[in-house]
Amino acid sequence: MTNKILRDRDLAKIWHPCSQMKDYENLPFIPIKSAKGIYLYDYDDNSYIDAISSWWVNLFGHSNEYINQKIKEQLDTLEHVIFAGFTHEGAIRLAERLVKLTPKGLDKVFFADNGSSAIEVALKMSFQYYKNRGEIRDIFISLENSYHGETLGALAVGDVSLYKKTFDEVLIKTIQAKSPALVSEDEALESMQKLLIKYNGRVSAVIIEPLVQCAGMMAMYDQSYIKALRQLCDKYNTYMIADEIAVGFGRTGNMFAYESAKITPDFLCLSKGITGGYLPLSVVLMSNEIYNAFYCDYSEGKSFLHSHSYTGNALACAAANATLDIFEKDSVIEKNKQKIKKLSYMIEKFKSLANVKEVRQRGLIVAIELQGYKEEDRIGLQVYKYALKYGVLLRPLSNVIYFMPPFIISDKQMQTMCDVAYNAILSLRS
Ligand SMILES: *Cc1c(COP(=O)(O)O)cnc(C)c1O
Repeated sequence: MTNKILRDRDLAKIWHPCSQMKDYENLPFIPIKSAKGIYLYDYDDNSYIDAISSWWVNLFGHSNEYINQKIKEQLDTLEHVIFAGFTHEGAIRLAERLVKLTPKGLDKVFFADNGSSAIEVALKMSFQYYKNRGEIRDIFISLENSYHGETLGALAVGDVSLYKKTFDEVLIKTIQAKSPALVSEDEALESMQKLLIKYNGRVSAVIIEPLVQCAGMMAMYDQSYIKALRQLCDKYNTYMIADEIAVGFGRTGNMFAYESAKITPDFLCLSKGITGGYLPLSVVLMSNEIYNAFYCDYSEGKSFLHSHSYTGNALACAAANATLDIFEKDSVIEKNKQKIKKLSYMIEKFKSLANVKEVRQRGLIVAIELQGYKEEDRIGLQVYKYALKYGVLLRPLSNVIYFMPPFIISDKQMQTMCDVAYNAILSLRS
């Protein structure tokens, strides 16, 4: 088998996500034969450092022996069971652990099977919470430049026009406040407050991505905004949804990003890293108070009748429990501190490049924003191609090159990742 043979078979039958398929005429995609640790291996004996954790999901490397073993054990016991009317030990244990890891006020766990679905759950649940109490709150507020997924509800609260614009006519009602990652914190808070006053009593929830708007060009902001937003949500009596699908599970340095602001969101959405990058799974955590607003006789019509076929999948829960085991036994959050610091030294040299506008870091997320190029230059694509040639998978967001490596990356591998990105940028200047 070679890359070429698999490419041809693939192109004949498969429609890839987030792609213009015609692009693949000039930019052949790469069939991956196997993966181990931070390396991906193709059919032509090339290897690539997975510097973006396979779309931000992988935490402890590919084919991690411990997670493999736990999934195998689960596989021989129970692969999946309907989650309405039935349950299983893995899901129970995972829910107990997640509740324990999060503050009081995040007391119950609702399972789904991907990030966008978790967002749908949080939006629908906050809306229905008010409806169950006789209030119709028809608006959601989110931030400019935000991303919450691709299903219509999640798309509606997002603000990346590339994905959203086409579907404008069919989206639910949402309003965007200014993003603290793009304007000053004061301006962002003022914009939010204005909306909360204007639509007082009509807002089901405010949804944010704490600290980093990942799909929004890795735009970053300070925890003080989150703290102030928590106060605004309380003052104007609306719910706060923290979408930690990308930033949860240690990415920003803390286990969860909201911790840095010392607040508790009303809904916490988690996915991506939750299974260590192995299997699709997502959860939404919320308070007993919210849970209780749906708890009554069935005939009252207040039940949350939302489900997905693979809700609470047993294999995914086993992967998630194994992932949490690793966090515990390897003191990952503590050990990552050193790695975060090392990475911050390594990215220093990018700052002096003339075509680098800004270098940002939050935990194990680094963004290098380039300047002086036009959209049609598609420099992101050039960097992508260059890096692949030198054995690193980078997937720039337009003119923003970013690193979001698995936590098990070694110092030497981090250095290679940085060197290749650095040389890729130099290659653009000539
Ligand atoms: C990836 C992502 C989602 C959507 O998750 P999917 O599993 O891709 O549907 C939602 N919110 C954020 C912040 C994300 O990064």
